[in-house]
Amino acid sequence: MEHRTTYGLVGYPLGHSLSPLMHNAAFEALGVEARYELFPLRESELEGFFAAVKDAESPIFGFNVTVPYKEMVLKYMDHVSPLVEKIRAVNTVVVTPKRTLAAHNTDAPGFLAHLQELGFEPADRRIALLGAGGAARAIVGALGLLEKRPRRLTVYDVDTAKTEMLVSDLGGRIKMDRVEVVHSIDDLNIPDADLLINATPIGLKPTDPVLVEADMMQPGMLVYDLIYNPRETKLLKMAKARGAKTADGLGMLYYQGVLAFQHWADLQLDDSVKKLMREALEKGKAI
Ligand code: NAP
Repeated sequence: MEHRTTYGLVGYPLGHSLSPLMHNAAFEALGVEARYELFPLRESELEGFFAAVKDAESPIFGFNVTVPYKEMVLKYMDHVSPLVEKIRAVNTVVVTPKRTLAAHNTDAPGFLAHLQELGFEPADRRIALLGAGGAARAIVGALGLLEKRPRRLTVYDVDTAKTEMLVSDLGGRIKMDRVEVVHSIDDLNIPDADLLINATPIGLKPTDPVLVEADMMQPGMLVYDLIYNPRETKLLKMAKARGAKTADGLGMLYYQGVLAFQHWADLQLDDSVKKLMREALEKGKAI
């Protein structure tokens, strides 16, 4: 391992990641001699990685965690933030000077920050969510922890048991009384929703179907696809054609990245640096 201050992303597989572009742009702008790298690790390699990170000689001072390890890595953490305590998913780890590991979740506030940028106020709104995986966990948690919560959140996943487990797990720590697990796309009541979110990977591949019918979407609704590659999924194209507002996943990726960087550096980034991070993502091609 090269002995240069290193940050990175732990997950598997990692072929699609744009995170190095954003974080390396910030290091360069700040004149910091550090690199953000990809750590594509198999599950069997996690134990060794975490032991190595805790070693005093390790060059790694922080990292992000992505699919499929956001929940699994909790057991390696020495400290967890109050938000991680509630949603039990980690996407950012700070390696402290004593080489203990502090877990944070910036997906949840990153998603909310992007909604705010888009001018969408979730209080008292009706929201339909597709997917009950890691990203959905952050979204359900983020919305459930708001002081002014949405009026209704319906959640559908092909695996209904998984959705029920997500809601019952979060329900022990977060108010879930306005969350409804539904068993079909029709039961999501999309035509009545103010916001439709796709938190499934369906749309990543050109051959993927669109999970909803075109006539379920209408003007006035915001359709938010967490996918950022491609920027315009078939779902978003269809939503636009129906006159709905649309947002892709690059905004959430950007905000979670800024918040992660701020945890690692223990500082607030200047707007000029944030702008460079966003531009790096906007023009980026994943490595
Ligand atoms: P994940 O943990 O694999 O969850 C995806 C969920 O979608 C799974 O529960 C999956 O069910 C379900 N699903 C698959 N096909 C479906 C279908 N046809 N109908 C309904 N549900 C279906 O993945 P994730 O980490 O949550 O990520 C989801 C997507 O969000 C990915 O595209 C990812 O790139 C994106 N994402 C973006 C950001 C961002 O910052 N923009 C952050 C996180 C994630 P099964 O497990 O049964 O297949």
